[in-house]
Amino acid sequence: MARKWVYLFTEGNAGLRDLLGGKGAGVAEMTRTGVPVPPGFTISTEACVSYYQNGGKFPAGLWEQTQEALREVERQTGRRFGDPKDPLLVSVRSGAKFSMPGMMDTVLNLGLNPRTLEGLARLTDNGRFAQDAYRRFVQLFGKIVLGVEGERFEHVLHEVKRGRQDTDLSADELAGVAAQFQEIIRRDTGKSFPEDPPEQLRMAIGAVFGSWMGRRAVDYRRLHKIPDDLGTAVNVQAMVFGNMGNDSATGVAFTRNPATGAKGIFGEYLINAQGEDVVAGVRTPRPIAGLAEEMPAAYEEFLRIAQKLELHYKDMQDVEFTVERGKLWMLQTRTGKRTGAAAVRIAVDLVQEGIIDETTAVQRVDPALLDQLLHPTIDEAAKGKARAAGDYLTTGLPASPGAATGAIVFDPDEAESLAKDGTKVILVRTETAPEDFHGMVAAQAILTARGGMTSHAAVVARGMGKPCVSGAGELQIDYRAGTLTVRGRILRHGDPLTLDGATGEVFAGRLDTVEVSLAREFATFMSWADRKRRLRVRTNADTPHDARVARSFGAEGIGLCRTEHMFFEGERIDAVREMIVAASVEERRKALAKIEPLQQADFEGIFTAMDGYPVTIRTLDPPLHEFLPHGDEEIATLARKMGIEPARLKAKVEGLREANPMLGFRGCRLGIIHPEITEMQARAIFKAAAACQSRGVKVIPEVMIPLVGDVGELALQEELVRRAASEVMAASGQKLEYLVGTMIELPRAALTGDKIAGVAEFFSFGTNDLTQTTFGMSRDDAGRFLPQYVEMKILADDPFQVLDQEGVGQLVQMAVEKGRKARAKLKTGICGEHGGDPESVKFCHRIGLDYVSCSPYRVPIAKLAAAQAALGDTTRDR
Ligand code: ADP
Ligand code: MG
Ligand code: MG
Repeated sequence: MARKWVYLFTEGNAGLRDLLGGKGAGVAEMTRTGVPVPPGFTISTEACVSYYQNGGKFPAGLWEQTQEALREVERQTGRRFGDPKDPLLVSVRSGAKFSMPGMMDTVLNLGLNPRTLEGLARLTDNGRFAQDAYRRFVQLFGKIVLGVEGERFEHVLHEVKRGRQDTDLSADELAGVAAQFQEIIRRDTGKSFPEDPPEQLRMAIGAVFGSWMGRRAVDYRRLHKIPDDLGTAVNVQAMVFGNMGNDSATGVAFTRNPATGAKGIFGEYLINAQGEDVVAGVRTPRPIAGLAEEMPAAYEEFLRIAQKLELHYKDMQDVEFTVERGKLWMLQTRTGKRTGAAAVRIAVDLVQEGIIDETTAVQRVDPALLDQLLHPTIDEAAKGKARAAGDYLTTGLPASPGAATGAIVFDPDEAESLAKDGTKVILVRTETAPEDFHGMVAAQAILTARGGMTSHAAVVARGMGKPCVSGAGELQIDYRAGTLTVRGRILRHGDPLTLDGATGEVFAGRLDTVEVSLAREFATFMSWADRKRRLRVRTNADTPHDARVARSFGAEGIGLCRTEHMFFEGERIDAVREMIVAASVEERRKALAKIEPLQQADFEGIFTAMDGYPVTIRTLDPPLHEFLPHGDEEIATLARKMGIEPARLKAKVEGLREANPMLGFRGCRLGIIHPEITEMQARAIFKAAAACQSRGVKVIPEVMIPLVGDVGELALQEELVRRAASEVMAASGQKLEYLVGTMIELPRAALTGDKIAGVAEFFSFGTNDLTQTTFGMSRDDAGRFLPQYVEMKILADDPFQVLDQEGVGQLVQMAVEKGRKARAKLKTGICGEHGGDPESVKFCHRIGLDYVSCSPYRVPIAKLAAAQAALGDTTRDR
């Protein structure tokens, strides 16, 4: 006997999503619970998978089972498929496990031909309705099943309408339209339109299977990481008609507002319309409240059912319905997609309404959605107006969420000086480089024409919580002329511009933004997440300001404070350069002595902001040449400023040049060759700690040595640090509690974790460098090939964004195990970009790390991911 491929709606339920797809499981569940649903059946996703394994042929038994199920639908409706007297018409609807809105297609009114059309007209005594249904069927079937370009049909319809609404067309006009459609089909495909209803059905089922591998669907799955081998189900369902006249309608609704989460039905409908008219904007639909007046009885019942469905699923639902001559039919229910704000509000409200518990609420919100919540957004109405006015420019990559408005500035220095005067600017660059950093800090947002989601602009902007649109390839930027050209439209330096970093959209002009004030629900929600998690969440912060911001988002300490950013600030860079150029140790010490009090002041600010929480400070990491200029002109200027020979400075710069700086003279290697640098930094840290402690601030300093590959390197640096601590304690009379540890960012360090833990009191995994050194791939150059690697599925994700658990993760896990064998109390954490990525956070929980550290704006995301990890991961709806 053949396998079972076909399930009547009466046989399925909500638990069968894998087999029946989301739509099929939804209609089955509604049927089961007594909601009025037109009868039908679902062809399983397994049949689709089999179809592909079969080289595009129906698996054995499928067609027989389909015909049998159809006979059951005929019994239930009292109509017969293809019967000219009282024809059964059906819809053929795709529906995969994860909903892919707009990606696959639906054919309505299938079963019509000249004979059944006549029967339908006679039976309903409504010739216009029958012709309208036929016109729609020929159009949908022609486009979806026969592959004729939809535009061709639209054009004909447009010509006939001549500015009228589709509802204004007479029966004869509609008949003429359908005839023209058929003519187009005949010309384009060389075949005439199939008139045999079973043949139509067979072809439509094949087309739905085929659409699973269509370009659109494949691209969508790539983007949302949905596997290709799930297949789609096909739902065949008796038609109900919203286009039977003014007592009929069709609509879509959410049981709560999907943008804000506010309680109450939210939706739209159209009178005398069918299926997709509402979403496709054939006519402007009316807000759902209008239905209460036009069809009070149907509306009442609709409200009751919508509420029942929400209670049944215990979550906000997105529903479709049709009213046929006053009678309500439900056609779909699914978990509604929502914004971050709505997700939190709905979760909290549902708990307060007693529908779900706190644990479910915490499990339900996608951590990535919280990102939107922490940044301002553009008013949707303002976007609509701007589009209408032709001010929409282009869409790039949504690199860092948030909305911003400002004047176009191309030069980072100018961005800085304008910002100082209080002008809001947007920095527009072909791409950004580390030397543009100050301009990025000063700007409201960053827009680049080149570069991906991990480009410099994107990573830095996310780190700062600043909106960024990257890789907007349509932009032509001319720095000299001071212009930005998009498809012929020229914008100039100083012109206002608005970006939406969450969508990648770019608009000319100033659009209104809405500031997100963290709603009360947010605090409630986060307090639940905090109660569930084990993993601590710290932040990466280099300045007292960042530290304060991070505290306000709930950071529980600093996991990475990079001291080199302090070296760049203001006048200090001069002293740093003096230190680098110094000809002797004495000269170097003299320069370092100028930096020391400044570093100390910064550390005091950070310790104060983190009162009571640990602060991990990393000693100097980048290669020294990063602090020196390169061009002849700049070298000459600096030499003049420093009062030395340009030739000497140039020789120094040359001398520091490295073939491969990433693997060169950096990290602890600097402090080993120039111990006075580490000494100065350690002194600044402990003096700051002592000063804060004497003021009553609780300080917990953790000194971190970067880029250690061998325990010998660490031992040397540790000794310097401990000596500095003893000296400061003796001089200040303060007893300081502190730790010395290391950043694990080289495979050799991970492999020898047991030896390193003999000295280190903590391991902080620098997974950016560890990914680089494990893959042997430079993060700055990977943009040329990594995107293709992901597209070709060599790698599932960009390993710089999502931790490579199999390789890099294995090293982390090994280092933790080895390290804990040598030192049971070894503290462990992660401080790369991955610390804010939900999947990576969950991995950190599973392997038993003590904390993750991420940028300030990602702290709530990491906390929620940590809570979900502690609750045991459950797969969420996509
Ligand atoms: P999508 O997944 O794109 O929403 P659907 O399969 O839900 O596609 O169908 C598209 C439109 O057709 C929806 O508005 C739906 O309500 C309507 N529709 C589908 N099946 C029927 C039916 N049997 N009777 C009336 N309308 C239907
Ligand atoms: Mg639908
Ligand atoms: Mg590093």
